[in-house]
Amino acid sequence: MSGQAISPGFDQDLANRLERIRESGLYRELREVDSPQSPRVILGGRSLLNFSSNDYLGLANHPLLREAAIKAVERYGAGAGASRLICGSLAPHHSLDAALAAFKNTAAALSFSSGYAAALGAICSLMTRGDIIILDKLVHACIVDAARLSGATVRVFAHNDLDRLERLLKWAASKRLCAADHPGSVAQGKGRVLVITETVFSMDGDLAPLREIVSLKDRYGAWLMIDEAHATGLLGPNRRGLAEEFDLGDQIEIQMGTLGKALGSAGGFICGSRLLIDFLINRARSFIFSTAPVPAASAAATAALGIVDSGEGSTRAKALRQRVQEVDCESSLHALGSVVCSSPGPRSAIIPVLLGEEYRAVAVANALRERGFLIPAIRYPTVARGHARLRITLTANHSAAETQALTHALKEVLHAPDVPHSHRSQP
Ligand SMILES: *Cc1c(COP(=O)(O)O)cnc(C)c1O
Repeated sequence: MSGQAISPGFDQDLANRLERIRESGLYRELREVDSPQSPRVILGGRSLLNFSSNDYLGLANHPLLREAAIKAVERYGAGAGASRLICGSLAPHHSLDAALAAFKNTAAALSFSSGYAAALGAICSLMTRGDIIILDKLVHACIVDAARLSGATVRVFAHNDLDRLERLLKWAASKRLCAADHPGSVAQGKGRVLVITETVFSMDGDLAPLREIVSLKDRYGAWLMIDEAHATGLLGPNRRGLAEEFDLGDQIEIQMGTLGKALGSAGGFICGSRLLIDFLINRARSFIFSTAPVPAASAAATAALGIVDSGEGSTRAKALRQRVQEVDCESSLHALGSVVCSSPGPRSAIIPVLLGEEYRAVAVANALRERGFLIPAIRYPTVARGHARLRITLTANHSAAETQALTHALKEVLHAPDVPHSHRSQP
């Protein structure tokens, strides 16, 4: 090859684009954590109180998950070696799929290498051009990406707004009638209509009105997919998720979740009918064309399901609820108008403190870090521009003393003179 360097235009282009990101207060950097997930993490040689992990039940470093992972490595090695459909479908994957179906009380389940891959695989295989996908405005990026990639027509309803959802369902039903009158002329698709929502919203921590959504999708003959990423392991009498809480599991076509949050491992999954899972095995491209998950991750996730389903799971979920209540009931935070007051009933482990402008969220996060707390600012594109926030997450392993330290520090920082207030002009 000639000894030519990479095009100087390439570096210049990237430098320009990064500069624009910096100017808008949206530049991101990796923080190297030098310890397992826990209420305390070591970052840059400093021990920080961590209120930003999705390890809600404190299982990521649990002895039983570690043991399951180690045993799986000893027996099956580090890597799966191939995709599931070639020769990588190892016993730990099959055990996990069976355990997921049993846990969610569905006929079948299929695990993927990530929740992101599960969303992509399911949505893009089920929906195509001529179909309609209806999304809550705040669904996770992986659902938005999948919906776009599927080629279906995508419509979005305002967050948790049932009237808007119904209007879109009516509109979709009328489109379907048109298509039926003129077979082949309107669209190549079959006019399928799929509604997708999260049950616990990842950045706001609030819940979807799932009962009402189920009755609406039934009334208009649509299908429903729910993403229980932040509800699995936490909500419902057996901690299966919000669908279990409302006893709606068998009325929902597609149930999705991740193994990387309350289940303390890595990977994603889809639960539903045997036909759904057989279809995904045949058509979900992120499943077919990707190396099977490392056996250690699947074995650890199976161990996590065992814990969630046990007395210990119940104790851990209870401890977590207790911690959430301690922060929730901190009336002075409500007085600041920052914490979204939760209604009675099931409650997630996510407490957003809305701060507005990006620079303000960053200033507050920095001030908290100086005081020994790790709660990174969440900014665009994770949330809408001007809706930057702290996203506080609690885990079963936090102590009452730690939540108390948190609320104390929050009050101090939100009132501190060196932290800009939301309506002051940008410095
Ligand atoms: C984290 C998350 C995902 C993606 O799951 P991964 O396993 O991390 O890829 C999907 N949906 C929601 C709502 C999430 O919060």
